[in-house]
Amino acid sequence: LSNDLKSYLGYQGGELHFGLHPRPLRDFTQGYSRPTYIYDIDIIRTRFQKMKKALNGVGIYYAMKANSNLELLKVLKSEGSKIDVVSGGEIDRALQAGFTPDDIVFSGVGKTVRDLSRAMELSIYQINVESIPELLRIIELAGAKNSKVAIALRLNPNISIDTHPYIATGLHENKFGIELSVLPEIQKILQTHNDRIELRALSLHLGSQMLEFSGLREALRILKPVYKDLQIKFPSLQRFDFGGGLGINYETTDLFKEQQDLDSYAKVIFEELSDLKAELQTEPGRWIVAHAGVLLTQVQYVKETPYRTFLVLDSGMNHLIRPALYQAEHQILPLNICGSGRKAYDVVGPICESADFFAKNRELNEAQQNDFLVLADTGAYGFSMASVYNLQDLPEEILFSSGSR
Ligand SMILES: *Cc1c(COP(=O)(O)O)cnc(C)c1O
Repeated sequence: LSNDLKSYLGYQGGELHFGLHPRPLRDFTQGYSRPTYIYDIDIIRTRFQKMKKALNGVGIYYAMKANSNLELLKVLKSEGSKIDVVSGGEIDRALQAGFTPDDIVFSGVGKTVRDLSRAMELSIYQINVESIPELLRIIELAGAKNSKVAIALRLNPNISIDTHPYIATGLHENKFGIELSVLPEIQKILQTHNDRIELRALSLHLGSQMLEFSGLREALRILKPVYKDLQIKFPSLQRFDFGGGLGINYETTDLFKEQQDLDSYAKVIFEELSDLKAELQTEPGRWIVAHAGVLLTQVQYVKETPYRTFLVLDSGMNHLIRPALYQAEHQILPLNICGSGRKAYDVVGPICESADFFAKNRELNEAQQNDFLVLADTGAYGFSMASVYNLQDLPEEILFSSGSR
């Protein structure tokens, strides 16, 4: 039956249910002490498996920055995921979760000497290099350790995708990746230092929350001849990493439509890359975990003014920064919809910033002090971006398996 779900979150008999095997969220309010992220392990498993099936044969390196909860990582490891990290802290977390160094790809523009040394001592699978000075730093470190390092070059093809500017990463104006015009210089460096560096992969990541794939196709068409040319010069080049970024629907979830989007995405990948002599890799984050989490919060005050009605919650931009940072809109749902009217609210947090809101002038079911509200689709870039600003507590996190009773 669960295969017929249109969403993992919805009302049954007026009560909000969540999960691959839907359960009442009311169950999680007992013993509530502070805002809580609730994750369903079974959604995570099913999302991973769906992606694995659609991208059959592609190595999946889950982008840990989307959600680095240790238990969640263990679930993904047990499903056969590998891992994309962006810091020394994430390397440590990956190892703690049971990933081996050979499962780890290391991305990011600002890798420190300390983090690179750690990655090199562990001999992780691949370091994705994003600039010439980073490449030179790696060569120097490899020389000092008298070792040889496997790298990927992350390329910036100057392609825009339809997403928020803060999560677009494949344009000249973005700090990410190596511009194609710099490649001749890079090749010289690689040839000079072929005792220290082995080019294993090319990588690409155009940005996040991508729901339309013409930009991706264009980028792959630009990078394919680059790959082929480099493979002739560097026979160790055997892998192509097409990044992450597949989006989800935040306004209304339609899992059938998301399956179609996933299939169109896979079609673009295979149409463009199947003739490449390369192992394919990808680094999805959001698509796997966003729907798998909700944030449970409690109304502290209903504040009426002549201009607005504010719902002041115990959670705000300190726990979920996406609305403040990207103007993201998450659905806000009461636990129960029996018999209440509707009213327009500004839903705000406790933080001393005017950017601290989840929604403005949003029509919701009428709410009272101490009511619980749920922010939907917060499994990705929720807790992992939370802060202790104002010295508020971090949220709690609960994992459950909706399928086990
Ligand atoms: C953030 C990031 C990802 C994951 O992006 P999603 O949109 O969550 O899939 C993948 N690769 C790199 C290099 C990233 O920085």
